[in-house]
Amino acid sequence: MSQERIHVNPLHRRAGSGLFVDKHRIPDRGMDPLTAYHVVSDETMLDGNARLNLATFVTTWMDEEAQRLYAEAVDKNMIDKDEYPQTAAIETYCQRMIAELWHAPDAAAAPATSTIGSSEACMLAGIALKRRWQEKRRAAGQDASRPNLVMSSAVQVCWEKFCNYFEVEARYVPVSAEHPALDGALLEQYVDENTIGVVAILGVTYTGAYEPVAEIAAVLDAIAAEHGHDVPIHVDAASGGMVAPFLDPDLEWDFRVARVASVNTSGHKYGLVYPGLGWVVWRDAEALPESMVFRVSYLGGDMPTLALNFSRPGAQVLLQFYLFLRLGRDGYAEVQGTSRAVARYLADGIGGMEPFALISDGSTIPVFAWRLVDGHTANWTLYDLSDRLRMRGWLVPAYPLPDDMAEITVQRIVIRNGVTMDLAEALLATIREEVAYLDALTSPLPDRTASPAFRH
Ligand SMILES: *Cc1c(COP(=O)(O)O)cnc(C)c1O
Repeated sequence: MSQERIHVNPLHRRAGSGLFVDKHRIPDRGMDPLTAYHVVSDETMLDGNARLNLATFVTTWMDEEAQRLYAEAVDKNMIDKDEYPQTAAIETYCQRMIAELWHAPDAAAAPATSTIGSSEACMLAGIALKRRWQEKRRAAGQDASRPNLVMSSAVQVCWEKFCNYFEVEARYVPVSAEHPALDGALLEQYVDENTIGVVAILGVTYTGAYEPVAEIAAVLDAIAAEHGHDVPIHVDAASGGMVAPFLDPDLEWDFRVARVASVNTSGHKYGLVYPGLGWVVWRDAEALPESMVFRVSYLGGDMPTLALNFSRPGAQVLLQFYLFLRLGRDGYAEVQGTSRAVARYLADGIGGMEPFALISDGSTIPVFAWRLVDGHTANWTLYDLSDRLRMRGWLVPAYPLPDDMAEITVQRIVIRNGVTMDLAEALLATIREEVAYLDALTSPLPDRTASPAFRH
């Protein structure tokens, strides 16, 4: 955006407002609110249609009652527990509901908090792992200066941030064709006395895969027995934490697995709430060092809090409670089940097209990815298909797999509530048309690679 000024649409211009609005300097004088509203609203017109954005995991649509509740609660600050004691109480109801959903041994006693998203939740969980390890090492008179965290190379970027910001060595177990996700196979080479924890992902962002938490725990049990390194697991269930309990209730990935110390999820992903809301729950008081807890005043006494931020919107917590009540367990199962059915349908349709091979099929979280079949064409890539779909209004990103498999480009679709079978049908038809167009090319398109800025 090189232009310094925005031209005010003459239809919106009112007495006293100028022809232009400065973009980079706060104007000396204000303008009437309607003009300002239209300027801002028009500026966002090119943002694209959020519901056709199949790149994001984050909620882009809620029902009218939720909108109303949101508008009523938009002014609430989550940290003001004393001023908004009911909102604070509702946060604790949600925490307990989630702890119970994830089979915490004593849901009422499981420490938990809402956060601005999974990233903050993961930072807090990571700090807890580091602090516990440090306290244990120091108590035993051992060196506590070189902590490391073990995880798959397909982790979400928040774990790179955690290791960077909180000075923990990141040990990435590479993904490969043979081990497309962390499955415990190579753990013994990565875990040692300085390992603060292992991260397992329930719903890998690249492919949707559930990493097998129970198998990873079994390998860690064996390592503990042989080498004495007793390493806890954090489950990053940013998306899977609100899918698996409803659709795969028999899958043991949560506190049923004894080695799981903490779990996070994004309320604003399959929790179905608008951004930003996350949750993190610890197994019990022992899993969360008391030294991390702060206290804020609450109804004449105090209330424990745990957060990186201070002020943060409280409305999302009310929306989460609204959805738990409105949908219930069967409603969540129906919503997520419908998304999974749409994902499976689209995956079958795309996997059945000649140029494509599926990497995953939408049978975990409603997310799947595919690649071009080797040798199909030298004239176009999935980046070109992504471009063609964008021209038709659909955002379906293409990107390389993580390091070690980065030579493989995939394209991914995330199905959320609101992507109907009808829309899926329309998308399949569009993909068929665009593939026919690309396959009819008689020479290669210019070489394109992913924008380095793309983050999953
Ligand atoms: C989305 C995601 C995150 C980050 O979550 P935010 O809520 O966007 O901060 C972390 N881990 C995984 C596995 C994710 O999918």
